[in-house]
Amino acid sequence: MTSVLRHPDSEERQAPQPLLSGEQTPTENFLVKLFAVVPLLALAASVPFAWGWGLGWVDLGLAAGFYFLTGLGVTIGFHRYFTHGAFKANRGLRIALAVAGSMAMQGPVIGWVADHRRHHAFADREGDPHSPWRFGTTPAALARGFWHAHMGWLFDREKTNAQRFAPDLLADRDIARIDRLFPLLTVVTLLAPAVLGGVITMSWWGAVTAFFWASLVRVALLHHVTWSVNSLCHMIGDRPFAARDKSANFWPLAIASMGESWHNSHHADPTGARHGVRRGQLDISARLIWLFEKAGWATDVRWPKADRLGRKLNPGHSLSLGRSASRG
Ligand SMILES: [Zn+2]
Ligand SMILES: [Zn+2]
Repeated sequence: MTSVLRHPDSEERQAPQPLLSGEQTPTENFLVKLFAVVPLLALAASVPFAWGWGLGWVDLGLAAGFYFLTGLGVTIGFHRYFTHGAFKANRGLRIALAVAGSMAMQGPVIGWVADHRRHHAFADREGDPHSPWRFGTTPAALARGFWHAHMGWLFDREKTNAQRFAPDLLADRDIARIDRLFPLLTVVTLLAPAVLGGVITMSWWGAVTAFFWASLVRVALLHHVTWSVNSLCHMIGDRPFAARDKSANFWPLAIASMGESWHNSHHADPTGARHGVRRGQLDISARLIWLFEKAGWATDVRWPKADRLGRKLNPGHSLSLGRSASRG
């Protein structure tokens, strides 16, 4: 079963809101990287210390497996499919994507989609739920904005009106049910690694370490990567395409974000199935959509089109679509 996604963001396209402007100084740029990257490096550095005591291959394998399963549920499912309608999916794939994405602990699917459609409708303008430019362009305002865009918006937020931004999903019985099952899926995503770790190692200690690394650390890591797309990818990076906002392509996060950090390309062509449109831009999510298409589960995939993207190039940039771009 497929459904045509409506895009409520299109009607706001012409709203006469001024765009925010301003560029970061090198110092601000350095601070953003410091705050965003150093804690994660510290976490990575803890791995060799813990190795052999409280961390082993089973923990690492489970953490990677659940990281990519739930991460792709968000990037392919919540984002490219449910929010933007980058392809059509059969019922099985649709349900699997909604369940996998819900296990990322980023909120129920309908609320996630409503927030993100609102983000595109008002990107970096008043009404955007998470713009780092919300408070202005001075260093202090940007530091505050970074925090707000990264995770602050989650703590004191107005609820996005799902009736307005996601009526298609509210009307879908499968999706509405998965949306209500979010608390249960949260329990599953936290307990499944522990159960697997315990069974594989046949020990309680194996369950405990798997819970720590493959549940807690894995969820935290994916949270930060997803949030970085909202914060960093609206602050630093390349802007080959003219977008109405400050979105940027930030290559260091390409693999961890499964292709989502090609965020300037995404804002230039929101319904495209591939975000890393240019040659050499890794996009694991697009590769998987391509496999779904081969399997016949995904149809009407919106691969990048040279004419559609070429019109949006900024002066001084060439398109150089990847050789495989048009087929994923
Ligand atoms: Zn964005
Ligand atoms: Zn988007």
